[in-house]
Amino acid sequence: MKGPDLGALLSGFRFNPTSRTPCAAQPELYFSRNAAHARAAAIGCSHCPFLVECRLEGLERGEYGVWGGLSHNQRSRMGSKGRADEARRLLLRLAQKQKEAS
Ligand code: SF4
Repeated sequence: MKGPDLGALLSGFRFNPTSRTPCAAQPELYFSRNAAHARAAAIGCSHCPFLVECRLEGLERGEYGVWGGLSHNQRSRMGSKGRADEARRLLLRLAQKQKEAS
């Protein structure tokens, strides 16, 4: 059985990180192939106010690097159904966050 369509779930979604994010301060950690760097990057993400938006972007893009606290390998291991399930969960969290802010 085919899993949910991640592209359809995230169509139109675009995240623009700001210069105030932890990754902007230390970009070398976020695109390093060193596992210790990736773990340090994920800790930075846990303090970032854009974690939900960034993780969604990372799930959609499939690019190398740490996005929203998840490394490329972690996102790959989730599989397409896992990524779509996570995207659905994050979209609900984002909607709740936006509702609380309004
Ligand atoms: S959550 Fe995204 S924007 Fe925030 S520090 Fe991590 S990689 Fe950067």
